[in-house]
Amino acid sequence: MKVVALTFDDGPSKYTSSILDVLEEYDARATFFVLGNKVEVYKDTLNKIILNGNEIGNHTYNHKWLSKLSVNEIKSQIEKTQDLIYKYTNYTPTLLRPTYGSINNKIKKTTDLKIVLWDVDSLDWKLKNSTKIYNRVKDDIDDLDIVLFHDTYKTTVESLKKLIPYLKEKGFQFVTISELYEIKKLRGYK
Ligand code: ZN
Repeated sequence: MKVVALTFDDGPSKYTSSILDVLEEYDARATFFVLGNKVEVYKDTLNKIILNGNEIGNHTYNHKWLSKLSVNEIKSQIEKTQDLIYKYTNYTPTLLRPTYGSINNKIKKTTDLKIVLWDVDSLDWKLKNSTKIYNRVKDDIDDLDIVLFHDTYKTTVESLKKLIPYLKEKGFQFVTISELYEIKKLRGYK
């Protein structure tokens, strides 16, 4: 069995719910790295993410370059977001995706959250074309990969409608990041 972890940054947005529907249709799970300042407005979406068996991670409060902030500012960006997510969902994330995938020792020392980067970048924010996103990811993806998307573009939703059935047909299963780590452990990875 081949597994992949689809991840979505910068939401929730008005497109997130459509992504959840596509995932549900194909019995797929994913991980959503949300911004703290979007949590209250999209609290229903956030609860739907969890209810459908997906995972929520922390992507800072308002997308500041974490690696350029002081320890106190980093703490505040992360903790404010943890608190808001907990307040509206009763769920406590264990994962952090640093903004721009940029990490340093200051960030590592400031948080207990597991820092999650990616293996395949869909470049959906740049391509904004569902066929191009689809082609890029399908040609690049491999067993155990983490794929980066943003649930803030309509073209990303459209690309998933082709990509998920295609990959499913190829024998891929779609799991959350925490599930991916468990699978890696079972297979003897560190
Ligand atoms: Zn981001």
